[in-house]
Amino acid sequence: MALATATIDFSALRANLARVKELAPNSQVMAVLKANAYGHGLVPIAQQLAGADAFAVARIEEALALRTGGITKPIVLLEGFFKASDIDIMLANNFQTIVHDEYQLAALEQAQLSGQIKVWLKVDTGMHRLGVEPQQFEQFYQRLKGCANVHEQLHLMTHFACADELENSYNQTQLATFTTLVSDKPAPLCLANSAAIINYPQSHGHWVRPGLMLYGVSPVQGKTSSELGLQPVMSLTSEVIAVRRVKKGEPVGYGGHWQASADTQLAVVAIGYGDGYPRHAENGTPVLINGRRYPLVGRVSMDMISVDIGADNQSVAVGDDAIMWGAELGIEEIASCASTIAYELLCNITPRVTYQYLN
Ligand SMILES: *Cc1c(COP(=O)(O)O)cnc(C)c1O
Repeated sequence: MALATATIDFSALRANLARVKELAPNSQVMAVLKANAYGHGLVPIAQQLAGADAFAVARIEEALALRTGGITKPIVLLEGFFKASDIDIMLANNFQTIVHDEYQLAALEQAQLSGQIKVWLKVDTGMHRLGVEPQQFEQFYQRLKGCANVHEQLHLMTHFACADELENSYNQTQLATFTTLVSDKPAPLCLANSAAIINYPQSHGHWVRPGLMLYGVSPVQGKTSSELGLQPVMSLTSEVIAVRRVKKGEPVGYGGHWQASADTQLAVVAIGYGDGYPRHAENGTPVLINGRRYPLVGRVSMDMISVDIGADNQSVAVGDDAIMWGAELGIEEIASCASTIAYELLCNITPRVTYQYLN
């Protein structure tokens, strides 16, 4: 009998991919599946995204797991390869690589290969995480063009630091830097993550790289997923395992962090940070039981949380389902109550949670 359960709605996933295509009708879609498809299950999610043109992951192990799972689409390694010995693995498995640094370029130049690797050259236009400096771009471009181990179709990409903020002029600065740099290059361009797909149509280019929005989560500050035409894919649920009374002034949970301000009843739900529910969720974080929101009280434990259902409540009983997030309770709100972002909550789902796939 499963308690903590992540229910994954494939029809919502497919609808979100359709939404990406509606927003970026002239771009090919590289669906981002890193970190176990943002906690949704790598291979099952890939299997449902037949409409994507390519997949992207962050680690070669993730790419290999997709191939083992029978996925044949092109796979792009978003940070490229880290060791020269990975190049043979990339060639054998039809992985494409980002090149963001001299060590990768040198390894490609020195490799003895029986075929060619497709490369995406990444430019740092202002995020200052990965990418070649704008002043290095021409040299990298020419060396890749001249490298017999590199496929002649070079792709060019960059990444925005602040695309979730529509008003932030830094996005325009990055876009302008990139556009100027690549203007005379006959190469497909790829800039936009989910937030840029929504906020900056002028950044769409030949390829877009949606991650979060495919999972139905809002990538834009101040907008809900439904306002953006997205459908949440994951519901995280568990069950009430006890309903009990506490008296005014009695402390609840580790450290006696919260005390009842009046006599009340608590529902104890079988989910905790051992399942990936955030320990930093504050008092008052909503939990949905039988269609009503109730506040979390006391510290989140490894296996349980307590919810204040009120002194007179007769509608909550042991065995009832409790929803931590999902279609009726946005994960964006829960992330904000836990001082984090939805990305982290999704990635933190632990192996103890049972996955159930629908539609
Ligand atoms: C993770 C990632 C994405 C996807 O970002 P979302 O905000 O989830 O859409 C796109 N590009 C790169 C380089 C990434 O690392």
